[in-house]
Amino acid sequence: MNEVTQSSSNVYEVFALRYATHDTRRSGENYLGDDPHDDIAMPLDFYVWVIRGNGRIVLVDTGFDATTAVRRGRRYLHSPIALLGELGIAASEVDTVVISHMHYDHAGNLSEFPNATLRVQEAEMTYCTGRCMCHEAVRRPFEARDVCAAIERLHSGFVVFTNGNEPIASGIDVHLIGGHTAGLQAVRVRTARGNIVLASDAAHYWDHVRTGRLFPIVHHVPAMLDGHRTLMDLADGPDHVIPGHDPLVRTRFSHWNGHPDIVMLHEKPVEHTGIDRDKGGPETKEAR
Ligand SMILES: [Zn+2]
Ligand SMILES: [Zn+2]
Repeated sequence: MNEVTQSSSNVYEVFALRYATHDTRRSGENYLGDDPHDDIAMPLDFYVWVIRGNGRIVLVDTGFDATTAVRRGRRYLHSPIALLGELGIAASEVDTVVISHMHYDHAGNLSEFPNATLRVQEAEMTYCTGRCMCHEAVRRPFEARDVCAAIERLHSGFVVFTNGNEPIASGIDVHLIGGHTAGLQAVRVRTARGNIVLASDAAHYWDHVRTGRLFPIVHHVPAMLDGHRTLMDLADGPDHVIPGHDPLVRTRFSHWNGHPDIVMLHEKPVEHTGIDRDKGGPETKEAR
């Protein structure tokens, strides 16, 4: 683990902003091929993440809006734009929007960020505009209007495609993971406590990484399992991998100004994840 103390000039603050939630059950809804007897409540939280420092404001994912929340039966807590406002960040100040993948809960609200350049994997744009979308089951987590908004941004000259692993800024880089969608990317950020990795849907819950299990929306099973390992390799420790939908994010880290839904990921956790990398990575004995 690299718990280096770095100068404030080359590190970032990173906040997880919880904007919505959904009451899900562990069995079937959150684990691929799970035992139906293992059916307990396991809520799914929805986050966007903002990276601030070195004159940059980078938003990782843009969430969905209230209309989409009603249509899809999600409980909307705040608009992501309002949460940014509580941190003193105007949407117009966001210079870069990194879209982890184009699912509805990650790629809405694009028009709210008029000055931002969009960074999305070319493979993801190909995926969400191509033949895979002929299948209703595959396109269900996408909103056509979000895809259209991204295409409009492209034709306005405000999209820069990423291909594989690339720097976004000094101390911020993206990594193509795939697995969940064809072009899902995770984001690694340098903070005062070391490099953290915003996994987005490369790991919905820490428990997926710990046990080598999968969320049921899968494009490619081996790529998703390889992705868990990649996340661990990129991060400076298990506590540095931040899952995309886990309610435990709000109990394992401190909150900004006591706000219930603004979490400081650049601060050391108050509770550890319980993942032991030394036992051979994500696939623990328990999973085998
Ligand atoms: Zn997703
Ligand atoms: Zn998601």
